[in-house]
Amino acid sequence: MPDERRPVLSVEEALEHILATVHVLEPERVGLLEAAGRVLAEEVTADGDIPPLTNSAMDGYAVHRGDVARTPARLRVVGEVAAGHVSQVRVEPGTAVRIMTGAPLPAGADTVVRFEDTRRDGEWVEVLQSPVTGANVRPAGEDVRAGQVVLQPGQVLRPQEIGQLAAVGRMKVAVVRRPRVAILATGDEVVPPDQTPGPGQIRDANSYTVAAQVQAFGGVPLLLGVARDREEWVRQGMREALAQRADLIITSGGVSVGDFDLVKQALAAEGEMHFWSLNMKPGRPLAFGQIRPLSQCGGTGRGGLPSHWGGVAGGLPPASGGTGGVGVPLLGLPGNPVAAMISTELFAHPALLKMQGFTDWSRPKVAARLTQPIARKDGRRHYLRVRLRETDAGYEATLTGDQGSGILYSLVQADGLAVIPEEVDHLPAGAEVEILLLSRIR
Ligand code: AMP
Ligand code: MG
Repeated sequence: MPDERRPVLSVEEALEHILATVHVLEPERVGLLEAAGRVLAEEVTADGDIPPLTNSAMDGYAVHRGDVARTPARLRVVGEVAAGHVSQVRVEPGTAVRIMTGAPLPAGADTVVRFEDTRRDGEWVEVLQSPVTGANVRPAGEDVRAGQVVLQPGQVLRPQEIGQLAAVGRMKVAVVRRPRVAILATGDEVVPPDQTPGPGQIRDANSYTVAAQVQAFGGVPLLLGVARDREEWVRQGMREALAQRADLIITSGGVSVGDFDLVKQALAAEGEMHFWSLNMKPGRPLAFGQIRPLSQCGGTGRGGLPSHWGGVAGGLPPASGGTGGVGVPLLGLPGNPVAAMISTELFAHPALLKMQGFTDWSRPKVAARLTQPIARKDGRRHYLRVRLRETDAGYEATLTGDQGSGILYSLVQADGLAVIPEEVDHLPAGAEVEILLLSRIR
C-alpha cells in the first residue's frame, strides 16, 4: 500500500520534481517542414555566401558611379540583365546596363540608379539624380557568409529558421524527437466513446482530451484504451505502455482514496511512486512516479494477464535515453475530466516541452479583473475556469458556470484559468487575477 501520510505538495514543488525527473530526448533527422516548431539538435552553417553574387536591390541601370557624379548624365544602354541571368556585357565608361532586382551586377558597374531617377531616350538613358557609390547594390554574402554558423543547437525552429535552413540548402536536419505518450484510462464505468454507455457507465472523455493536449504539445499520443479497476489490469496497461516504447505514461482515474483507486498500488508494484497529493483544486490527487523498464520486471512481459489490448507491439525494448534508464515517468491524473485536463496542462505540458528540448515552458498569461466576487477557504491553489472579454480597460474574467471538477462543458466555454493563490480566501468583484490562457483559438 502506498503511504497515505505522504506530504501534500505545492504545484511548484510537484512541477519541479517532475521536471527534474524527465530528460531531453535524443535527436532524429527529419525533413525541413517536419522540423517546424521543434528544437534544433545540431549546428548549421552556410554552404556558401547569401546572396551568392553581388546583385541589384532595385530595378534600374547598372552604372559606373564616376559617370553619374554630376547630373544630368547621358549614358548609352548596352545591355539588359534580368534576375536569374548573368550579363556578358561589361559596363565600360559612358555606358549602362538595364538591370532588374536580384540580377547579378555586371562587371565594371558599382552602382545602380533606380528607374525613377532616370529618363529613357532611345538607346540612351539620362540619369537625373546622382546616387552615392554602391547605391542599390547588395554585396555577395551581405546576408550570410560561407561557413558562417546560422543556427545553433537548442534553437526553436520558427518559420524564419525553417526559411534559413532552406536558404542554406538543408532539406534534412537533426531535431529532438517527439515524446511518445501512452494514455491509459481506468474505471469499470468507463467505456470507449464509440459505445453507448449502459447503466452506471460513462464515455471515456479523458483519453481524448489528453491525447489532443499531447498532440498540441508536440508529443505522439498512444491510446491504450480503458483498464478495469483491478490492480492487474492497470499494471498490464503500464507494461503495455513500456512495450509501446512510451517516454511518458499518463493514466486517468483511480488515484484518490476510494476502494477501487488502484493506480497508486499498480505504480508502486511496477516501479515507484514519488507523490500523489497536491495542494490544488481541481486535481488534488495526482500521482507521479516511474515505471521500471520491462527488462527489470523479471521477464514476465504480458504472460498470463488479462488482455484487451490485442497484441500490440509486444516485446519491444523500453525507451532508452529519454528517461535516463531509471524508469519511464508516469503521471496519474484524477478521473474527473476537468481535473484531468488542468493537471495535464500544468504538469504534462512543461514535461513534454522539456523532453523536446524547449527551455521556456511558461504558459501565456494575461491579467484580468473579476466580474464577480470569489469566496472559499481551503488553503488550496484554485484554477477557476473563466471566459475573457476584452474591454478598453483590459480583460474581464467571468466564471463559466459550475466549477465542479466533473463539469467538462465549463472548460468548453472557458478561455483560460484564473489562478487564485493558496492564501487568498476572498476576492471582491473587480479584483485583478492572473489568467493562464488555454488557447488562442476560439
Ligand atoms: P476516479 O478518479 O477514478 O475516482 O474518477 C472520478 C470521476 O471521474 C468519476 O466520476 C469517473 O466516472 C470519472 N471518470 C474517470 N475516468 C474518466 C474518463 N476517462 N472519462 C470521463 N470521466 C471519467
Ligand atoms: Mg475510477
